[in-house]
Amino acid sequence: MLTTEEIDNLIENCENSLAEKFRALEKISLYNQEKVLNAFRRNKIALRHFAPSTGYGYGDEGRDTLNKLFGDIFGAEKAVVSPNIVSGTHALSLGLSALLRPEDGVLFITGKPYDTLIDVIEGDNIGSLKDYGVRYRYVDFCGSFALENISAALREFKPQVVFIQRSRGYEWRNALTVDEIQDVISYLRKQNFNGCVFIDNCYGEFTDVKEPTEVGADVIAGSLIKNPGGGLVPTGGYLAGKAEYIDKIINRLTAPSIGGEVGSYIGGYQYFYQGVFSAPHVVCQALKGALLIGKTLNELGYETSPDLDAKCSDLIRAVKFNNERELISFIQSVQEVSPVDSFVTLEPWYMPGYNHKVIMAAGCFIQGASVELSADAPIKEPYIAYLQGGLTYEHCVLALKNIIKNL
Ligand SMILES: *Cc1c(COP(=O)(O)O)cnc(C)c1O
Repeated sequence: MLTTEEIDNLIENCENSLAEKFRALEKISLYNQEKVLNAFRRNKIALRHFAPSTGYGYGDEGRDTLNKLFGDIFGAEKAVVSPNIVSGTHALSLGLSALLRPEDGVLFITGKPYDTLIDVIEGDNIGSLKDYGVRYRYVDFCGSFALENISAALREFKPQVVFIQRSRGYEWRNALTVDEIQDVISYLRKQNFNGCVFIDNCYGEFTDVKEPTEVGADVIAGSLIKNPGGGLVPTGGYLAGKAEYIDKIINRLTAPSIGGEVGSYIGGYQYFYQGVFSAPHVVCQALKGALLIGKTLNELGYETSPDLDAKCSDLIRAVKFNNERELISFIQSVQEVSPVDSFVTLEPWYMPGYNHKVIMAAGCFIQGASVELSADAPIKEPYIAYLQGGLTYEHCVLALKNIIKNL
């Protein structure tokens, strides 16, 4: 077992060896902070935009300006940002159901959909895309795009929407970089795909200097209790992209006759503005924390993913442990040094939707906000834990100390 002093020295050495990478992340953060700040200035954000609204929300300037601000930040023609979009899954489901008609097809080119999307797509008798007669297919993804299979699927399956998941999700692979997304979009266009390229942007926002909408993506979607909420937004989701698509999405969010003219929020919009303003910095803190935890656990002999040399493109750090005991200790260690519910001792449990036990650390201010330091793991081989977020780099360092001590 390492002494406290040995742990401190190890972490400090790892920090020093990461100095150049930290510098690169800080540059991205500075660039994005300026981009966001300029959007605030261009859109003349003022105190009145934070005011609450009630009822129909006619003339709700806070809501309308927030949509414009997000569109501007993401280099998109239009955006819809709303506390009435309840989560990332809802944002993605809303987008897909707004854009696809009976007999249309959606092609996933980054492998099978994210767990929570499977029922959205192929659930039986629950209003899924399948219930509405939408076709679905996926092309396997093994760290890079299977171009020939994609090309064949475009010809045979003739999709209206091509879906790309930017984040690694819960796979042992690097997240897609915006450059890789740009390349595959060019490829799709060369194959004469004229439909909608839809990106699940969850965990990706502000990890790079560009967003997918700046390199040819038609629609992006994400959650406000992840990156773009900066740890402050209490709830909500967003979609941004081409106006023709966002208009359909807004009509689906409310109703075709009323579109974006309605929707109120009694809580007011201050946190939404303040959150997106803080987001580039918070994302940088989380990325630095994830790198440090990855590097240090590497030094201690644990495999982690993404590769330490890979360009960061999402907030997740996966760590492979030798056995169940280490895996559980890791998750419990994160919970122990959380600002909320630190006194709780976590136990693995069967949760709805999973066919094995899972354990989750989420001592967050906002329930389930994974832009805050959190970790989870299914109890099965190989013993992989997924850690994400961190509002401050310092919190990540303190969590790391506790993780090592308990291992
Ligand atoms: C979080 C996430 C989702 C789903 O978002 P929820 O807010 O948990 O519903 C979908 N895709 C990816 C890649 C995610 O990280």
